[in-house]
Amino acid sequence: MEKNLEIMPVGRWGLFPDGLPLMIAGPCSAESEVQIMETARRLKALGINVFRAGIWKPRTHPNTFEGVGTKGLKWLQRVKNELGMKICTEVASERHVFDCLKFGVDMVWIGARTTANPFLVQEIADALKDTGIPVLVKNPVNPDLDLWIGALERLNQAGIMKLGVIHRGFSTFEKIRYRNSPEWQIAIELRSRYPEMPFFCDPSHMAGDRKYIRELSQRSLDLGLEGLMIESHCDPTCALSDAGQQLLPEQLGEMMKSLVVRAHDTDSPEYKENIDQLRAQIDVIDESLLSLLGSRMGISRQIGEYKKVNNIAILQTSRWDSILERMIAKGAEYGLPEHFVTVVFNAIHDASVQVQNDILSDE
Ligand code: PEP
Ligand code: MN
Repeated sequence: MEKNLEIMPVGRWGLFPDGLPLMIAGPCSAESEVQIMETARRLKALGINVFRAGIWKPRTHPNTFEGVGTKGLKWLQRVKNELGMKICTEVASERHVFDCLKFGVDMVWIGARTTANPFLVQEIADALKDTGIPVLVKNPVNPDLDLWIGALERLNQAGIMKLGVIHRGFSTFEKIRYRNSPEWQIAIELRSRYPEMPFFCDPSHMAGDRKYIRELSQRSLDLGLEGLMIESHCDPTCALSDAGQQLLPEQLGEMMKSLVVRAHDTDSPEYKENIDQLRAQIDVIDESLLSLLGSRMGISRQIGEYKKVNNIAILQTSRWDSILERMIAKGAEYGLPEHFVTVVFNAIHDASVQVQNDILSDE
């Protein structure tokens, strides 16, 4: 049974400076003390206060760089002590949590592969109990909103109220423009269920390529997400993990300047803000509609080819009548008027018949 979550407003976490977006930046992985200090110093110069670095890295293949491990926490501690930044890293086990506690880590996040595993999430929640450390939960690798919410519930039940989420996109089998598919509608659904929960986007892991980071960051801000976690490295091309998606700190600075941040303050015109967010949601849904219609048309084309090979007529009126009847009934369940459903589906059907006709007449 889904429960309400008790969330402390992010302004009271004592981590982020005033203003939006809330920024977390740093390398994919801690690699050396020099790399950590150099990257942090240059990020600090941009006004970024929360520094990230992976210490234990979940890698797809064995025998690749799996993180420097606990010794890297000493370097993060130096960032905290010498630069006054807040430090955060990914935890995937009870041992990781205990190590973080020893080295004064200010916030942890749960990675996408770990969120998908309730045993580990529970273990981490138990280890974090009573520590007061904020936790950000990345979406699971698969597009399962319940699994994501379940992880939040486990942490919340362990008394963790400094709780937020990071949207990093979802794995797909097909090759798409991005490394991980944004599936914004899932983020929108989560946001509308827990509007008070701080919501970050991780455009780096979503994009998988630094050239897409700006467009994804802007899209997430347009949807009203308030934070960004972005990978930045003092020498990205030499990075030991995720080299293609990390930005130089100065590139990150330039990108941040180019982002249009929509006002969230109470003194901003509330109406405009709401309307912008709703329109951005509509844009996302329209794009999904188009992509679904495209897939439908592809199948229709296959049916056309198949009918042609088997010498079958295109129009099978009785089948169409029963589809339309079913859609009108289904549409009513979604609050859609009969006339509207009829017009939309007849238009779709006409276009389908046209495509199949073209196939038949194409000798
Ligand atoms: C990371 O942030 O370094 C990371 C491994 O991300 P994800 O869990 O989103 O793959
Ligand atoms: Mn990474």
